Amino acid sequence: MVSSGELAAAIRPVLKEWVERKLGPLTCHLTQLMIGHGCFAKYLCEVVGREPSVVCHHCDDGAVDTAEHTSADCSAWAETRTALSTAFDGDISLPALVRKMVASEEAWAALRVFSEAVISAKEAAERQREDDTNSLPLRRRRRDHLGRML
Ligand SMILES: [Zn+2]
Repeated sequence: MVSSGELAAAIRPVLKEWVERKLGPLTCHLTQLMIGHGCFAKYLCEVVGREPSVVCHHCDDGAVDTAEHTSADCSAWAETRTALSTAFDGDISLPALVRKMVASEEAWAALRVFSEAVISAKEAAERQREDDTNSLPLRRRRRDHLGRML
């Protein structure tokens, strides 16, 4: 997960451009990928308490599933990452992402396309784990007092 301090430090050098940007919206999936909240095992385990482990479900690397792992390293998204890496000249660290996002419509679009594809796939996999009757109880989707899915 990215701390608010890390995100602020990444945006601070380009704050004026970030605030005045006209290159595109910050979608839910794009935001999740930038701050590490959402369907990342580390977040689900350590913050939400819905995963027993921080290990990535999508690769065999035994890596901790974070936004950084997803965008930079996870072998499951290697093919999807190609256009992203090209748009960001191979540097997809948070400061580089922010710097390029405000400078290039192409970079912004590449990150948005990557985040939509990858986070959607991760969310679909998470829903399957939640709906699997063999899943651990903490992973299972919860119901409210009327039996509706939460
Ligand atoms: Zn992975």
